[in-house]
Amino acid sequence: MKVAILDGIKNLEIKDSKKPVPKNDEVLIKVAYVGICGSDVHYYEHGRIGDFIVDSPLILGHECSGEIIEVGSEVKKYTIGDKVVVEPGYGCNTCDFCKKGQYNLCDKMTFMATPPIDGAFAEYITYKEDMLFSLPESMSLLEGALIEPLAIGIYAASKGKVQPNQKVLIQGAGCIGLVSMMACMAYGTKNITITDVLDVRLQKASDLGAKKVVNIANETLDENNFDVVIDCVGLEGTMKTSIDHSKKGATIVLVGMGSDSDIKVNINRAISKELQFQTIFRYKNIFDIAIKLVEEKQIDLKSIVSNIFDFSDIKNAFNYVIKHRDKVTKAVIKM
Ligand SMILES: [Zn+2]
Ligand SMILES: [Zn+2]
Repeated sequence: MKVAILDGIKNLEIKDSKKPVPKNDEVLIKVAYVGICGSDVHYYEHGRIGDFIVDSPLILGHECSGEIIEVGSEVKKYTIGDKVVVEPGYGCNTCDFCKKGQYNLCDKMTFMATPPIDGAFAEYITYKEDMLFSLPESMSLLEGALIEPLAIGIYAASKGKVQPNQKVLIQGAGCIGLVSMMACMAYGTKNITITDVLDVRLQKASDLGAKKVVNIANETLDENNFDVVIDCVGLEGTMKTSIDHSKKGATIVLVGMGSDSDIKVNINRAISKELQFQTIFRYKNIFDIAIKLVEEKQIDLKSIVSNIFDFSDIKNAFNYVIKHRDKVTKAVIKM
């Protein structure tokens, strides 16, 4: 089978590899679509994200859907021909975090496309049946591949305890900002302001239903009293905005990990407003909710896709995403 291997910075090539054989509790999936995540692009461009270093050949991609073409002897839930969404990480199932359902915090987490675990830019992958989700009839395999980023948005909105009639500020109108906005809207909030520095992204946010968009590169955010702020950027400036513009008692959800991890904030102001800080790391127990919201047409997930590339064109796709960051909201590879 063909796989796309990253072997050094910007060295991404399609190579032949042995088709995997499912273990007893695994299925073999013919991969249909894989989204290109910001993390994939980061590994491609820099060879690392923080302490995760690509020091041996790696297959990227963790936002994927596909069709089951073979099942292991102990597989119970699925049969050949089933279409599925893959949740790309699973915990050890034995540590305290896993036992409490917080498997996203498991120290032994196995997460696709995080070195040294291979991802989904491959014709076939094998996967454990208990981290797969059936794709409803009414949903396409393309939408299936977008469930993973949507899960982050839903997790962010739920940690913010977003409620109808609240006033929400979302910082960052990239893919995660947009799915966070869509999740807040599905939770009943229509009063959403979203900020970014790129007009193209803000236009997209507007098209998708943002009440107000602000290009903070040349406009000032003149609104205050936000009940919930979701920061999908993670810089000192956005942290300051969150504290300054939120209502007393508001919840601030930190989603984006920006480049400055040591940031200075006016903590006294945060304390005197009794702000509640929440953080999220990936997601847990969200995929079924995400699928349901798309199935019920509460979220039009396809609308975040800006580009679809063929697998044979994958290197080009990565270079395109880097060159046209301002235009690409979500690029997807058709396998
Ligand atoms: Zn992702
Ligand atoms: Zn664990």
